[in-house]
Amino acid sequence: MNKIELNNIDINKIEEKFEDMEKLILKLNECISFEQCFSVVEEINKIRDIYLTEYWISYIGYLLNVKDEGFLKTEEFFATAAPKMENLKLKYFKAVLNSKFKDQLEKRIGSRLFVIAENEIALINEETNSLRTKEKQIVSKYTKLLASSMVVFNGKKMKLSALAPHLISEDRELRKKAFDTRYKWFIDNEDVIDEILDKLVKVRTKIANKLGFDSYTEVGYIKMNRIGYDKKDISNFKKQIVKFINPIVIELKQMQKERLGYDEIKYYDDAVLFKDGNAKIKDNLDEIILKAKKMYGEASEELSEIFNFLIDNKFIDFEMRKNKSGGGITTYLPKYKSPLIVGNFDGTNHIIDLLSHEFGHAVQLYLSKDLLFHENRWPTFDICEIHSTSLEYLIYPWLKLFFEGDEVKYKIEHMTKHLKLFGYIAAIDEFQHVIYDKPELTKDERKSKWKDIQKEYMPYISDNHEYFEKGIMWQKQGHIFSNPFYYIDYGLATVCALSFYEKSKVDKENVWSDYINFCKLGGSLSLKELLSVSNLNNPFDEKGLENLSILMCNEIKELQEELYSRRKQ
Ligand code: ZN
Repeated sequence: MNKIELNNIDINKIEEKFEDMEKLILKLNECISFEQCFSVVEEINKIRDIYLTEYWISYIGYLLNVKDEGFLKTEEFFATAAPKMENLKLKYFKAVLNSKFKDQLEKRIGSRLFVIAENEIALINEETNSLRTKEKQIVSKYTKLLASSMVVFNGKKMKLSALAPHLISEDRELRKKAFDTRYKWFIDNEDVIDEILDKLVKVRTKIANKLGFDSYTEVGYIKMNRIGYDKKDISNFKKQIVKFINPIVIELKQMQKERLGYDEIKYYDDAVLFKDGNAKIKDNLDEIILKAKKMYGEASEELSEIFNFLIDNKFIDFEMRKNKSGGGITTYLPKYKSPLIVGNFDGTNHIIDLLSHEFGHAVQLYLSKDLLFHENRWPTFDICEIHSTSLEYLIYPWLKLFFEGDEVKYKIEHMTKHLKLFGYIAAIDEFQHVIYDKPELTKDERKSKWKDIQKEYMPYISDNHEYFEKGIMWQKQGHIFSNPFYYIDYGLATVCALSFYEKSKVDKENVWSDYINFCKLGGSLSLKELLSVSNLNNPFDEKGLENLSILMCNEIKELQEELYSRRKQ
């Protein structure tokens, strides 16, 4: 990543910019004409852009080499600079909301800034400051516990996360051992995690009460910027999952059982779908990138241009290296008007969905680069995952390039994974509603509620394992601790992504331009507004999920037929 490595972060310059921003906010309060007011808003956003560029360069630099001394130092700086910037941003939000030119500003910039500003300000109250610090400390206890978790597997001491490849091993016995090792760690740490959640529920409820809300659920909805839909809509969405998706998951499990030739699909079999193993990727990273280049070249002029731009400028890094952090992330550097992708190629077929997923985020950020200011360029989370997940499906016609025959298996695996996840997503969301709506529940009552929820949303789990009987499955889901009420967004986004897939089946010609137009809108509209202008399935509509679930189930059946007929040849 050349350009980033060349960039030196000047800490003093950022401090100076903070002072400039403070002055500009004062100026904003005293503007005498709209034109003057708008040019001050522009100046403020230029500073925000400079800050965000440096902030992300520091963080990405750190991810690329977690031992880099320079970036460790800049990360330390941003740990104290970020709250300062947050404060300035809120002052700016207050100033635009109170501006006498608010209506004209809204006409020029759009309404998103104002809706988001109002939401963020509704959650600010000096009296909650110490509670928020406490909340952060409790969350970090959970993060640290998981990050430092060690297990012994096959006589070797390793991180809990290092069990991952063994969980999908083709050796069934080994797989079982890996799962049992993982579950044992959670059973051993049950009380500690129970205690962490208990403290979090209490402190979050106090924060909500101080802000004037009955429960933290309401705070969660405002925090997630859920605009135009509410608890009732989400609850209806979850009911649809139970009604339409779950019967299909049960059918899929039956198909999986037959393919594998097992008597029963156990908890350790979930991710293994084929007797001779899941789809394999044979290429190295350079070959995969070259093929992706060819694919986007054929698929769409715009996507091809963006992909080449990222490659030529070294704004994509999927190489696995020592000291490089795991996982995938896409962000946007306003100074370069460019997105930037960091991921890791671990040799598995996961690279194909990871590459298209992260590139989907990048396409949106690139195509929204000229929208006015940060709030329009960055959609809320319920929208963000649509761009990424949709692209995972839109590249289906090109999978042959990467899998050379194994693409049928990959498609079955990819679709099955998403369909199976719906019930779990709904359960995690429902659990959060229950614990914050009834903060007085004891730790045991919470776990007993989870068991009921699990039965309702994942009725296909029938294993008699202590892990499931204890009702602690939620303990592995970091979102519950660090991003409350976030998780359902993956479900909402998947419905919309599948809707793009459905379009691609009936209208190959126009689906790319529909997708590009959707990306161009970035964060300028709310989820509901976007759905209606883009003619996508609405996850809140009764029929939304029914048709999609039928489509997916038929697709998987057809693919399975194809797989069987190929083998017979
Ligand atoms: Zn994503």
